[in-house]
Amino acid sequence: MGSKANDLHMLFFPFMMQSHLLPLVDMANIFASRGARITFLTTDVNASIIRPTIDDSVHLHIISIPYAEFGLPDGCEDNDFPLSLDLRKNFFKAVASLYHPFDAVLRDLIPDCVVTDMFLPWTYHVAAARGIPRLVFQGISNFSLCIMDAYERCRPLVGEAESFVLPGLPHRIELLKTQALDLNKLAGTPMEFMLEIFKEINEVEPKSYGTVMNSFYELESEYADHHREVMGRRVWNIGPVSLCNQNVTYKSARGGEQPTLASECLKWLDKKSRGSVVYICFGSKGLFSVAQLKEMALGLEASNHSFIWVVQNGKNNWFPEGYDERIKGRGMVIRGWAPQLLILNHIAVGGFVTHCGWNSSLEGICAGLPMITWPLGAEQFYNEKLLVEVLKVGVEVGSKVFDFNPETRPIIEASIIEAAVRNLMGEGEEAVERRRRAKILGENARRAIEKGGSSYNEIEKLMQELINQRKHV
Ligand code: UDP
Repeated sequence: MGSKANDLHMLFFPFMMQSHLLPLVDMANIFASRGARITFLTTDVNASIIRPTIDDSVHLHIISIPYAEFGLPDGCEDNDFPLSLDLRKNFFKAVASLYHPFDAVLRDLIPDCVVTDMFLPWTYHVAAARGIPRLVFQGISNFSLCIMDAYERCRPLVGEAESFVLPGLPHRIELLKTQALDLNKLAGTPMEFMLEIFKEINEVEPKSYGTVMNSFYELESEYADHHREVMGRRVWNIGPVSLCNQNVTYKSARGGEQPTLASECLKWLDKKSRGSVVYICFGSKGLFSVAQLKEMALGLEASNHSFIWVVQNGKNNWFPEGYDERIKGRGMVIRGWAPQLLILNHIAVGGFVTHCGWNSSLEGICAGLPMITWPLGAEQFYNEKLLVEVLKVGVEVGSKVFDFNPETRPIIEASIIEAAVRNLMGEGEEAVERRRRAKILGENARRAIEKGGSSYNEIEKLMQELINQRKHV
């Protein structure tokens, strides 16, 4: 970017949860590599998690959440912290109480712009009062944002229908009512407070300077255009940000340093043949009932394929009897946090069973992998539509009901899971075609971030624009 870019000072402020923190760290690294001066604002605990993966040139600035003041447990510095639903509200309140400390940071550092998470809508007002442009970090796809927008417009017309077609979108997208992300369902529940937060998000987003997306134009071009032209947002597609760093140390440490586990995974995968392993992971908090976990265990076993399976549930021993012995050498179970980028990008991995969180979906795309889609909630059912119907790189396992409660969610039987894995990893015409498409998407993703690629150019444009309009010269 030349010497002018070196003067551009950007301040990043993520929401405190892994799936929001990780892409923003990657994004900060990318802007740092393009010559911007970066301050990254986060809490102490989160700073220690990201330190091994953030560029040395990035200045980490600590902000403290007054958790005790809001009745939160000691060390509760992120939204992944296990909390009762009542306390969840207090967590958001505690974060919003950072209004004045955030203002003091802006007063002292006077950045040229701030990039703050969509879940921190109040940061817009702080930045606006100081005349600093605020860019929103949206952690989801253009496709999902377009669906949400279309859904809001057609919701009153849906009535009792079980399914409906979303109006005005580039493709015919039909949704089951049970798959929709309907915020109105929060009314009367302990999560009702989120309605107010989403109202504020929707109010300030159009007033903000623009939105930076972890996506790339070629992936969802019609929806990137729709987002800009029909929804009228100023958008920069600058991803996939997880491609910011290709070295093993970075991939092993992303989200928490676990060098022993990373090298165990690599050793295990090195023994497997190319494309033979299925990787199963449901994001940072994909929980299942014991009954569902048992079905999963049996389905994976019956598929006869090798697998790495990440299980977030606690340590209860729910494995079917003799399971450990039966899968020895063929299946590896990781409890807790796995080095996902390292695993997905190993040559032995040939398929990904995902809950369709946007980060995971995009990471699967970058790795050039076909996927089995198993959405649980949030906008994951929309990402499934993108992967299965638009991009045609996914096979649905058949999850039909938005339900974050693992105990009430309908169970998917072992035989169905087995069939989906066999289909994904098989040699049938469809599977081969799916694999071919996935590989092309992976290549396109890499091309987008390389010099001259669409995301590379968007970053250039955005930085130049910020330099041109800055007030503090
Ligand atoms: N992740 C990881 N190891 C795990 C689980 C998750 O590295 O064991 C990372 C994953 O690579 C992704 C993020 O955590 O970057 C999860 O984000 P996503 O949007 O997929 O799902 P969410 O956690 O929001 O449901």
